[in-house]
Amino acid sequence: AALHVSTQSQVAHRAKRVDVTTQYLDLFSRLIEGSDGGKREFLELGRLAGQFPAASVRDAGDASRISVWCSNDYLGMGQHPAVLDAMKEAVDQYGAGAGGSRNIGGTNHYHVLLEKELAALHGKEDALLFTSGYTANDGALSVIAGRMDGCVVFSDALNHASIIDGLRHSGAQKRIFRHNDPAHLEELLAAADPEAPKLIVAESVYSMNGDIAPLAEIADIAKRHGAMTFLDEVHAVGMYGPQGAGIAAREGLADDFTVIMGTLAKGFGTTGGYIAGPAPVIEAVRMFSRSFIFTTALPPAVAAAALAAVRHLRSSDAERERLWENARLMHRLLNERQIPFISDQTHIVSVLVRDEALCKRMSRLLLEQHGVYVQAINAPSVRVGEEILRVAPGAVHTTGEVEKFVEALDQVWRETGAERVPAAGQEA
Ligand code: PMP
Repeated sequence: AALHVSTQSQVAHRAKRVDVTTQYLDLFSRLIEGSDGGKREFLELGRLAGQFPAASVRDAGDASRISVWCSNDYLGMGQHPAVLDAMKEAVDQYGAGAGGSRNIGGTNHYHVLLEKELAALHGKEDALLFTSGYTANDGALSVIAGRMDGCVVFSDALNHASIIDGLRHSGAQKRIFRHNDPAHLEELLAAADPEAPKLIVAESVYSMNGDIAPLAEIADIAKRHGAMTFLDEVHAVGMYGPQGAGIAAREGLADDFTVIMGTLAKGFGTTGGYIAGPAPVIEAVRMFSRSFIFTTALPPAVAAAALAAVRHLRSSDAERERLWENARLMHRLLNERQIPFISDQTHIVSVLVRDEALCKRMSRLLLEQHGVYVQAINAPSVRVGEEILRVAPGAVHTTGEVEKFVEALDQVWRETGAERVPAAGQEA
């Protein structure tokens, strides 16, 4: 919602500065109050967890603390000793901040090492770091789609906000294909100008559904129509594929996707985002991307920590195996209790509530009665009527904790009289 300040009343108030200020503040107050109560409660719940000083996945077993079931630090790398040591060492060596943007004094040895490591992880020529996955998508897509004259972009309906914003900034024409529907993608491509440059953008693991894109079909369609491909593997890197290289790598399709995009903030436990791809594409993004150029680089210590996390997960399968055991167990236990969830393809277990008020009530009951924090996800993160509890079992949760969590959810399900569904765990 936009704020409208009436010019007339500005004039009327010009003489009385205090009143003008009040008027502006009132506008923002009204904006907050005017937004639906749902959004406010969502934020409130999010803040609640922050009131517990040491709440983290690691503390899930400590009864005096709330246990967190919606962390994106899926593999616990944010607490891993190798990562913490690397970070501390780099802080001592290089200090707390980068001191500048990447092109003006802010590039550190660790940024370069990390970019090399990420390029190697994905088997690509080059990689480029950003300060977040959000800015990576925004900056990379605005350049890739924006600098190809007449480019038409084909984007999955459930693509993340950062993809949507990057494509908006590119100014390119956009066609939305139905979620994970290659037939629809094909149809849209066939209808486009055969001469126009084309770009297909998808995620491998969808952040809210926890389902996986039909990558082989997308790659095949892209080839037949001569389209470039951009794959967001934010919820897959570290967790899937050989060395944690993601779903495309797991399916032997990494070469079929021109650009692979990832984050350092989920499986790799730190913060930052990146793209990996052919040298000319990466170089063009480096040269023209505003979200790369006009901001301070990641702190070297963050790059060092991320580097340690990537290296560790390239050589260790233990975290991935634990994550998958917990995810499998949760799928099975939920199915036994007939608690519906969207997909059993990944570790993102989106428990389907389909009612905003009920979803929030469940989240609150879990927190207040069971010491379990799992965020209710409402619009605009999901569509109205598709509200979920987005549960993320992590590698550091124990088997007992997964069992306890499902038990708590089962009690809340009973208490609220929520519907049970026999064929749960099937793809929606
Ligand atoms: N892409 C997807 C699919 C995401 O879910 C997210 C964040 N949840 C991002 C990109 C942005 O990543 P980051 O949190 O590193 O900014």
